[in-house]
Amino acid sequence: MTDFYTENGIVYCAALSGAPSLIHGFSTRLGGVSELPHTKSLNLGYNRGDPDEVVDENFRIFKEKLGITGAVLVSAHQAHTKKVVYADGSSVHFENVDGFVTNKPGVALLVKTADCQPILLYDEKARVIGACHAGWRGTVAGIAAETVAAMTKLGADPKNILAACGPCIDKCCFEVGDDFVDTVAYFSDEFLQFVSKENGKYHADIKAMNRHILMCSGVPEENIRVSEECTCCDPGKFFSHRYSKGLRGTMASVIMMK
Ligand SMILES: [Zn+2]
Repeated sequence: MTDFYTENGIVYCAALSGAPSLIHGFSTRLGGVSELPHTKSLNLGYNRGDPDEVVDENFRIFKEKLGITGAVLVSAHQAHTKKVVYADGSSVHFENVDGFVTNKPGVALLVKTADCQPILLYDEKARVIGACHAGWRGTVAGIAAETVAAMTKLGADPKNILAACGPCIDKCCFEVGDDFVDTVAYFSDEFLQFVSKENGKYHADIKAMNRHILMCSGVPEENIRVSEECTCCDPGKFFSHRYSKGLRGTMASVIMMK
């Protein structure tokens, strides 16, 4: 049994879908109008080679499929930081931010990825949501923990938070170098348990790292769902920075309270 399912080119987490007042989803590369080989077809990133009108149309399609056409969509220029902001909808764009939290219905939090892990968080009791972009730098810096902490400030209780960790590069494809291992160890030796060595090459398990960080933040293990899909193993379904050597479109993940 899998906790994630795909509908109309959007990946949902079943654990979050049980909440009637919540909308969430992770885009794939399916269902859009981009025609370039590397952006085909639902590219949700500007400056990836598509004319802006094409990306606008992809956003329109994605929002319509999700049912958030009237939402205030909040996003950021992401920079692999651990910076989280409170989004009340008065600003729709932030610079050098990688996580958002809100308690405002109608404010949709959006993170963009193409191998990094998108993490969507929800405390139904407190009516607080969070979203973050966790590449390996943001992961080891603690972006997931910072997002949980920011939700807690808004009244959320970590033990009530449900976490949906979306499709990202898995350890099968995430070969890393000595610099990665050194950096990870600098943040915490604990992370080294998620780096394995196969045939002389290091492989990192970013999914396990973020699960560990969420659990250390007080989110119960049974509340954490992690997509088993690997973006790099399935370039027909996902945009993958590593698979495409950087020439790729961008996917988006969204969470919003109705
Ligand atoms: Zn893989």
